[in-house]
Amino acid sequence: MPALVETHNLVKIYKAADLEVVALQGLDLYVPQGEMLALVGPSGAGKSTLLNILGGLDVPSAGRCEVAGVDLTRLTSHDRLLYRRRIVGHVWQQTSRNLLSDLSLLDNVLVPMVLAGYPARQRRTRARELLRRVGLADRVDHKPERLSGGEQQRGALAVALANDPPLLLADEPTGELDSATAREVLGLLRDLNRDLGLTTVAVTHDTNVAEAMDRSVAIRDGRTSTEVLHAEAAEETIIIDSVGRLQIPRALLDALPFGGRARVHLSDDHLEIFPAAPGATNGDGGHGMDADASGNGPGGDGTSADDRVIE
Ligand code: ADP
Repeated sequence: MPALVETHNLVKIYKAADLEVVALQGLDLYVPQGEMLALVGPSGAGKSTLLNILGGLDVPSAGRCEVAGVDLTRLTSHDRLLYRRRIVGHVWQQTSRNLLSDLSLLDNVLVPMVLAGYPARQRRTRARELLRRVGLADRVDHKPERLSGGEQQRGALAVALANDPPLLLADEPTGELDSATAREVLGLLRDLNRDLGLTTVAVTHDTNVAEAMDRSVAIRDGRTSTEVLHAEAAEETIIIDSVGRLQIPRALLDALPFGGRARVHLSDDHLEIFPAAPGATNGDGGHGMDADASGNGPGGDGTSADDRVIE
């Protein structure tokens, strides 16, 4: 995959009065097109500084920084403005930074399109389509204060995507949401990533957010330190046909010893599928399958009413 974001030896020095703060000191980062990346690390490490540079809100002091082929070290202030309007979308933690409180949701989505110079004819259709896409078709005339926290963040996503940017930047996008609502918003981010090929860079302290991304990169003292690839990146949507058959992708099937048989267990809001082959274990160690709370492992008697063997 070609790089959407590439920095090399990126340096940012803030100067305040006679003080200098080195916020980034030689940061290297490569984000391929279509990746969902989490930036993690301790407070003061330089995560927001990096996000602000990628967003065209701040100017690098030295080093290389390219986003979608644009060299961010060499932009005039006019080109920087165009960059902000066309190349990036932002979702912040606070609603007040995402949505204008006096405008309806529809008008909020229209603003970036007006600024990016979209033809007037297309704007309304596109704004409604985006709001439908984020599940807010019936909220278009609402002002932000009448929306729930989750709706506000979904609205913020519609606004961020209004100018069709290749890069979405998110700063603690679910920081003010309860965990169920946060999961919904993260699910929507994943859908948008898959459907639109949207590259996403999110700053977060929340391990649930980080794990919902393809990869986490830790920043420490203004440099990238460690990185983790998340297995959840293998999550795929599969089709269940009208008689209940589903096709499990080969790679997932090969990851566990199914041997042509599986045991299915219904949990509150999901199904668990365990290998039912002789001698197979339920493989809950890192494959994303919950342990069978009933204690009926595949080697057990398997008499739970919810359990079925599928072939
Ligand atoms: P993080 O987002 O990881 O918490 P930041 O990027 O906010 O870290 O900050 C990195 C360093 O840069 C910190 O030492 C912070 O105090 C400093 N810093 C950030 N923004 C400014 C600024 N506008 N002026 C001066 N120093 C700043």
